[in-house]
Amino acid sequence: MTKRARTTGRGKISAATTSGGRFAVRPGTFNLAGELFTPEGNRLSRLEEDIREEVAAVLVRDGAEVAFEACGCGGGGQCKPYWPGKAKIKALSRSSLPQMSPRPTAPTWIDVWAGDGTTVVFCHGDITWGSLLP
Ligand SMILES: [Zn+2]
Repeated sequence: MTKRARTTGRGKISAATTSGGRFAVRPGTFNLAGELFTPEGNRLSRLEEDIREEVAAVLVRDGAEVAFEACGCGGGGQCKPYWPGKAKIKALSRSSLPQMSPRPTAPTWIDVWAGDGTTVVFCHGDITWGSLLP
């Protein structure tokens, strides 16, 4: 009869190592735990809600990526986030700001997500940015 020690605090299992379930990696979209992933699979959590267009442009100029979802569900609903190319959006951020529709037909806001050394400006609802948005 061998007494097996249960694993205690040491070597705690991180959610980041889990390959399935609520914390599964879902490149380019959300998992069931509400974490967002870049198309490369970087795990992000929400850093700020409701930033202004000027702040979004500065973040992108400084290297943030951009995601869009047009229906205003927040991104975890029926749509999948759209990820424009990094180089294009960075060039655009030098010459223009994202534009929120003055009469939005969907919930419209911009929030910021970060993790794994990546920052993402996430545009929701009736937002356009130059010619980039669908
Ligand atoms: Zn949506």
